Amino acid sequence: MTTNANHPSSAPTFLDRLVLGTLPFVPAPLMRRVASRYIAGEELEEALAELASLAGRGYPGILDILGEHVESEVEARTVLDQYLRAADAVAEKELDAYVSVKPTHMGLAVSEDLADELYQVLAARCRERSLFVRVEMEDSPTTDATLRVFARLRQQFDNVGIVLQARLLRTPADIAALPPGSNVRMVKGVYLEPAAIAHVDADAIRRAYVKGSLELLERGHFVGLATHDDALADELLAAIAARAIGPDRYELQVLLGVREPLWKLWMSAGHTVRVYVPYGPEWRAYSLRRLKQNPELLRSIVRNTLRRD
Ligand SMILES: Cc1cc2nc3c(=O)[nH]c(=O)nc-3n(C[C@H](O)[C@H](O)[C@H](O)COP(=O)(O)OP(=O)(O)OC[C@H]3O[C@@H](n4cnc5c(N)ncnc54)[C@H](O)[C@@H]3O)c2cc1C
Repeated sequence: MTTNANHPSSAPTFLDRLVLGTLPFVPAPLMRRVASRYIAGEELEEALAELASLAGRGYPGILDILGEHVESEVEARTVLDQYLRAADAVAEKELDAYVSVKPTHMGLAVSEDLADELYQVLAARCRERSLFVRVEMEDSPTTDATLRVFARLRQQFDNVGIVLQARLLRTPADIAALPPGSNVRMVKGVYLEPAAIAHVDADAIRRAYVKGSLELLERGHFVGLATHDDALADELLAAIAARAIGPDRYELQVLLGVREPLWKLWMSAGHTVRVYVPYGPEWRAYSLRRLKQNPELLRSIVRNTLRRD
C-alpha cells in the first residue's frame, strides 16, 4: 500500500486552509499529543532515552534538534553549543547514532561564512568522537549554498554527508558533481517546489528517486534511502540485490513514529533501518511550519492518528 505526500494535489484545499488557519489556536496539549509520536521531547535527555530504546530494538539513530531559519549569529552559536552537547552525550553513552543539522539552523541565512565555521566546529568535535554529521537540505533557494558548504566541509572532513532531493530537476547534475565516496541521504523532498525546477507528479518523483539512488550507488557513494514509501523501497531493494550491492553501501532511514511495522519488516529482511529522532523546545513552531508548508503531511498525520486511535 502506498499513499504519497508528494502528489500534485498537495496544493491546499479549502478544508486544508480551514484546518491550517486554525492550527495556531490548537491548544498546546493537543498539539503535543499529536507531535509526541514524532518528536522525542523537549530535552536532550528525552532524545537520548529514545535513541537508547531504539537501539535496544535494533535500530541505530539520527539526532536532530528542531529548529531552522535562525536570524542572528548569537542564536546560531547557541544552536552549535546544543549540537556539541548532544554529540558529546551520544558519544559518552556509546549510542549508535549521529547528528543531522539544517543549514539555516547553523546560520546559513545569516551568512555562508558563519554556516561554514559552525559546521566545521561541529564536524571537528564529531570526528574526535568518531561521530558522523549530516548536512540536511532545505528549500530550493538554499540548495546552492548548502552544496557549497558541504563541498568545503568535505575537503577537510570524511565524517560528513549531505541530503539530495529527488523532486528537484537539478539533482542528477548535483549527483554528478559530488566528491568521490560521499555519504548521501536520498529523500523525495519535503518542500513543495515550482514545476519550473521540480517534478510535481508523484510518479515522476518516485522514478527520479529510483534513478538517483541507483546512480549514487553505481558511482560508489553510500546511500541512506530515507523513505516510508514501501513500493519505492521494495523496488530499490530488489534493484540493489540484483546488483549484488552489500549492506555496507546503503541503509534505510525513517522518521520516528512513521510506519513502524515497515521498519520491522525491513530489519527482519536483514537491512539496516536508522531512525530519525527530532527533539527540542521548538517542536510546536516547527510542527506548525512544516504542516503549513506541506498540507499533505497534515492529512497523513490525521489519517495515521485516527488509524492508531
Ligand atoms: C530520515 C529522513 C530524513 C529526511 N530529511 C530530509 C531533508 O533533509 N530534506 C528534505 O527535504 N526532506 C527530508 N525528509 C523528508 C522527505 O523528503 C519526505 O518528505 C518524507 O520522507 C515523505 O516522503 P516518503 O518518501 O516517506 O513518501 P510518502 O509517499 O510521502 O509517504 C509514504 C507513507 O508514509 C507516510 N508518511 C510519510 N511521512 C510522514 C510523516 N511525516 N508523518 C506521518 N506519515 C508520514 C505517508 O502517509 C505514506 O503512507 C526526510 C525523511 C526521512 C525519512
